[in-house]
Amino acid sequence: MTKWVYSFGGSHNEGRAEMRNLLGGKGANLAEMAAIGLPVPPGFTITTEVCSAFYDNDRNYPADLKAQVDEALARVEAAMGLKFGDPSAPLLVSVRSGARVSMPGMMDTVLNLGLNEKTVEGLVKSSGDERFAWDSYRRFIQMYASVVMDVAHHRFEDILEDAKRALGVFDDTEITADAWRGIVKSYLNVVQKETGRPFPHEPQDQLWGAIGAVFGSWMNPRANTYRKLHDIPASWGTAVNVQSMVFGNMGNDCATGVCFTRDPSTGENIFYGEYLVNAQGEDVVAGIRTPQPMSALKATPEQSPMETVLPEAYQELCRVRELLEKHYRDMQDIEFTVQSNRLYMLQTRSGKRTAAAALKIAIDMAAEGLITKEEAIQRVPPASLDQLLHPTLDPKAERRQIARGLPASPGAATGIIAFSAEDVEDLAAKGEDVILVRIETSPEDVHGMHAARGVLTTRGGMTSHAAVVARGMGRVCVAGAGSIHVDYKAQTLTAGRETLKAGDWVTLDGGTGAVYSGKVPTIPPTLSGDFSTLMGWADSVRRLKVRTNAETPEDAETARRFGAEGIGLCRTEHMFFGPDRIGHVRQMIMSTEQDERARAIDALLPFQRDDFTQLFRIMAGLPVTVRLLDPPLHEFLPHGEHELEEVAKAMGKNVETLRARRSALSEANPMLGHRGCRLGISYPEIYNMQARAIIEAAIAVSKETGNAIVPEIMIPLVGVKTELERTRAAAEATVQAVFKEKGVTLEYLIGTMIELPRAAITAGQIAEVADFFSFGTNDLTQTTLGLSRDDAGSFLPHYVDTGLLPKDPFVSIDKEGVGGLVRLGAEGGRKTKPGLKLGVCGEHGGDPDSISFFESVGLDYVSCSPFRVPVARLAAAQAVLKQRQKQPV
Ligand code: ADP
Ligand code: MG
Ligand code: MG
Repeated sequence: MTKWVYSFGGSHNEGRAEMRNLLGGKGANLAEMAAIGLPVPPGFTITTEVCSAFYDNDRNYPADLKAQVDEALARVEAAMGLKFGDPSAPLLVSVRSGARVSMPGMMDTVLNLGLNEKTVEGLVKSSGDERFAWDSYRRFIQMYASVVMDVAHHRFEDILEDAKRALGVFDDTEITADAWRGIVKSYLNVVQKETGRPFPHEPQDQLWGAIGAVFGSWMNPRANTYRKLHDIPASWGTAVNVQSMVFGNMGNDCATGVCFTRDPSTGENIFYGEYLVNAQGEDVVAGIRTPQPMSALKATPEQSPMETVLPEAYQELCRVRELLEKHYRDMQDIEFTVQSNRLYMLQTRSGKRTAAAALKIAIDMAAEGLITKEEAIQRVPPASLDQLLHPTLDPKAERRQIARGLPASPGAATGIIAFSAEDVEDLAAKGEDVILVRIETSPEDVHGMHAARGVLTTRGGMTSHAAVVARGMGRVCVAGAGSIHVDYKAQTLTAGRETLKAGDWVTLDGGTGAVYSGKVPTIPPTLSGDFSTLMGWADSVRRLKVRTNAETPEDAETARRFGAEGIGLCRTEHMFFGPDRIGHVRQMIMSTEQDERARAIDALLPFQRDDFTQLFRIMAGLPVTVRLLDPPLHEFLPHGEHELEEVAKAMGKNVETLRARRSALSEANPMLGHRGCRLGISYPEIYNMQARAIIEAAIAVSKETGNAIVPEIMIPLVGVKTELERTRAAAEATVQAVFKEKGVTLEYLIGTMIELPRAAITAGQIAEVADFFSFGTNDLTQTTLGLSRDDAGSFLPHYVDTGLLPKDPFVSIDKEGVGGLVRLGAEGGRKTKPGLKLGVCGEHGGDPDSISFFESVGLDYVSCSPFRVPVARLAAAQAVLKQRQKQPV
């Protein structure tokens, strides 16, 4: 015989917290609290297995369920000394849903179940309070009818309002028992009229009606949507809890409340929460009366804290608070009721908290000896650190939202509007705070994005150019705010009826995607000592090294401050957009003759050498991987007549010749075009110049600082071993030439990116000529899924919303597909060269889920944008701990 029903709270307490899967979170924790001696009103839990059986069996209950419920109910009756449906002193119950994880969309709780015309008189007698009894009855009808029978809530509100008006009273508490009787009659009539059925009078019918409604709500559209969004399988099912009622609304020695064992927004170790005197469950959140604080410490003179109003019950609750934290070893979110000065516990669960609170609570609890350091590491969600590293809007400041886009890069920024990268630079140079507003951004805007406080675009998704680059630089970004219209010519942006001009103030919240007009003050991030404590603990646990993707000295320095252990990706093409360089780059690309090209390249050499020198200095002996040029060619071609003329003049050529060259170079699909090592093979001079610049800089900085610099030269977009063989040979020849000229040698590595499926599949061969691999998971995602990052915005969000893909594969690695290739590439490479150094340098290097995957593959390091470095350090530590828990000791 299957056990479908578990008692809790009375003489029989059959559940425990570990039985959450079977009893749901609420049921398991009610049993747990009872087991540790806390006052829990007796009741029983109908298991989640009943829910599954119900749906497997065409919405029918298991045959023996009724008998088990009757038995459990009899136990509750015995414990309470009352009988369900007894007209002289009735037992009343609540019916509460409770899945494994708390889930909005499920049926709301029904209180005071078991009342009818006869039992209400019994309640009058047993409570000695006629008003209370009839108020409870009308509450029950209203709740049951709206939750179970689908009668609109406002039907009852309307009746109540009319009655109050007729009586000339404002507050429910002024309504007399007689008036409640009349209102109950109207309520029952409304139910009959709205549903064509009478309200169920028989307590047994009420009970089974409510149980059926809970199970029914498991499959309602709201619950289905929530489950889909949160990856909750439908097979889990919900449990139903039936619990004897306690009353917080029987007078001024009664109360009900909701609280947290610590402050969920700051983490401060104080009793935090709200309660109401003489009230029942839903009153606290209904907002009709103003709830009061728990502790006197936090109360203003006008407030009536529970500590002074109900001191005995408050002291008891403080004892419970401590006990619960000791027992659960985490901050708890609890619900309680006080009946005639006696405390009853109705719920406990781990409390939701802000990032700041999570951090503080984890460190404090470790210091208090409640949890271990390893547990503290696991208590802070890595992605939430973003909230702590960036400025936020002053919560007290007034603000007016004019639009909303995607929360593309976190933090808050306020500044004056500029519509071009050039304008941003000019204004920023004068000390202004500037927000760059563009329809979308391209690599040419990067210098403006850098000079700006924040970036707002009206087009593009979470992986649009603006989003990726802004995240990389730690700039605030709201992307794809489609309701805003930008007019470059008029230098205005329009959102609804509001039009802002260049120079007007605008404020962005990159954490929510909100756009505000005007200047909203921001608060700078304060990194507490707790933050570095946690980082230190994480570092002592993690195995993966964490490097950064950086090209500019500023980014490199930021990353070092955040604890980066080297540079995993320096994208040299990003160094080519500066105003003093772009001209030479264009000449290099547009030249048709080798000596022409050589001249342009020679002009670039000192710039590049200087760039690398700075990065090597900042990284002080830590590894630096420099990727040779991998330009999207079209981004470097001269645009428009004016630029064409400029380049022509510099090269001493006529515009027509150059126009022809430009169209010869333009590609239908640049992403799969003449880029990466293909370019290095066509024009070896470019890679040779870069190899020279890297080695010369490394020699210089080694000599200057005494740190042995071991540069890592990385060849991009290799698909075939021969490509790497040829480019490697050319680079080595240059390196040897430099050694000879300088009369010194140093250690160096030449490796490749694995970013094409063919490279991953033939990694064993490629490893023969590579000193290291770095998985370029951005391109590998594009090429594996055949999905262009720049064009996916029109359909990819829909894929994710409707569950075709679990997550955006550009944000979190597609473990089975792209991840499968990473695994294959890693295994292939290490088979040829055991100990081959393996890293990853795509956006995924900063994504906690992906990092956990890379840990399982056994990569050596991840590389991510500077502001993600702390996130990656923590995620890497958690990955180790997770892995450890999987392996039985
Ligand atoms: P939710 O999951 O929405 O919080 P609950 O089942 O916890 O719903 O019920 C909401 C509130 O109803 C509780 O916080 C409590 O105040 C009240 N409540 C539920 N069951 C009882 C009961 N047996 N006695 C008194 N109040 C109850
Ligand atoms: Mg609750
Ligand atoms: Mg790439």
